[in-house]
Amino acid sequence: MLNIVIFGGPGSGKGTQSALIAEKYNLIHLSTGDLLRDEVASGSELGKLIHSFIDKGNLVPDQLMLDILSRTIDNLNGKKGVIFDGFPRTIAQAEALDEILEKRNEKLNLLLHLKVADEILQERMLFRSKTSGRSDDTPETIKKRIDIYHQVTAPVINYYRHRGLYHAIKGNGSGTVETIFAEVSSYISAYQQKR
Ligand code: ADP
Repeated sequence: MLNIVIFGGPGSGKGTQSALIAEKYNLIHLSTGDLLRDEVASGSELGKLIHSFIDKGNLVPDQLMLDILSRTIDNLNGKKGVIFDGFPRTIAQAEALDEILEKRNEKLNLLLHLKVADEILQERMLFRSKTSGRSDDTPETIKKRIDIYHQVTAPVINYYRHRGLYHAIKGNGSGTVETIFAEVSSYISAYQQKR
């Protein structure tokens, strides 16, 4: 099994790259943002609660996030592994992911970090806001999401650093979806060859 975390700030291109990775390597694409938005769209009481966090640019609390995830995780079979997109976003989630994978007799194989400067994240999300229809793509909320990324999510990298599975990829300026995917693929293919 191949389990990959795609890591990066909001608007760093995680979703785009995850979809390409899932297709090329036959993995399940698990986006916690999509999972949460599906629950919101269902109109359930839980969805309303989730919306109140997302809408303000806050993270959904860990326990709630993990409850939602646990409903899905048991059904993640039939492919060659999972690409985790937008998860883990806190140290507690990173610990929970280890437990989840351990129970399946698996482990995290790679963590690929799409590094993009804050100004570019902001620009991209503002541009995306014109068509995304996402209530959390407003200038104020975008700034808050970037701040929370730095304060709460970026430290998660340290949790993994000593395991030798971390690779940083420049997702800035001159890179296109294709050139970034070429670099992403090179790390995955290299990993597959060495084992
Ligand atoms: P982006 O990367 O552009 O912020 P996502 O779809 O990954 O988009 O996340 C959108 C929102 O969903 C986040 O701002 C947060 O409120 C919520 N969310 C997604 N994943 C998680 C998670 N792992 N833990 C807590 N909240 C999450």
